[in-house]
Amino acid sequence: MGMLEGKVALVTGGSRGIGRAIALELAKEGADVIINYRGSEDKAKEVASQVESLGRKAMLLRFDVANPEEVKQAFEKIPAFSEKLHILVNNAGITRDTLFLRMKEEDWDAVIKTNLYSLFYVTKEALSFMTRQRYGRIINISSVVAFTGNPGQVNYAASKAGMIGFTKALALEVGGRNITVNAVAPGYIETDMTQGLPEKVKEAFLSQIPLKRPGTPEEVAALVAFLASDKASYITGTVFHINGGLFRG
Ligand code: NDP
Repeated sequence: MGMLEGKVALVTGGSRGIGRAIALELAKEGADVIINYRGSEDKAKEVASQVESLGRKAMLLRFDVANPEEVKQAFEKIPAFSEKLHILVNNAGITRDTLFLRMKEEDWDAVIKTNLYSLFYVTKEALSFMTRQRYGRIINISSVVAFTGNPGQVNYAASKAGMIGFTKALALEVGGRNITVNAVAPGYIETDMTQGLPEKVKEAFLSQIPLKRPGTPEEVAALVAFLASDKASYITGTVFHINGGLFRG
């Protein structure tokens, strides 16, 4: 029996990369999965059919995590799929890299809205299920750059550091209702997001990673599945670094 038998999970940005791997890992462990996406409908459909071929139920839920109206309307559709929502993985995220002196307000806005405001919108809706059930697991996908900084990513680092404060404060508020809130801070993971990085930046990252390779989405997904399970029932308000030794907490 999997660690997540009988559980229902929502993964934001579940169509590609780390979110896709998380959706599949949660399904392998026995969870039914709601796959959120924004633009990549075909890819999201493919993830849903893989979840189903693992013998689990899948629901596709298109919404822009940065749009409060879309989030609200999407959540209204969940009860037709499941009365319960046990696990929320706030994974959707974007970058708009540029040096701060050249950064436009729209680059700042897009990243902060997608990566941080989304936590406010999506988590609020998910908590209405979780507080009723007196059970919940919330996992926020932050980043190593929240801790180290990174030139060209002032907007992204600020959003990812904000996610850490959000995680710690919310954990204090909802612990009494048997809801845990944790963050996972990946380092350099091979996905579409990092594929676009200049070779020089990739080499600079690799030279600093003791394990001498990028991580895989599946490696991040394994940690998320553990945190989503009952085996992690006494862990809350904490950040988990997964970066091949690049940063050690
Ligand atoms: P990808 O660019 O590969 O995938 C991003 C996912 O987020 C897609 O599924 C995309 O959906 C979704 N998404 C983006 N914007 C929105 C939105 N407004 N509403 C709904 N969904 C949205 O990224 P990764 O898999 O690499 O990253 C996933 C998370 O992990 C991000 O939060 C990222 O910051 C974080 N991270 C990644 C690292 C890495 O090295 N790759 C390192 C540290 C953290 P669609 O295509 O359907 O629009």
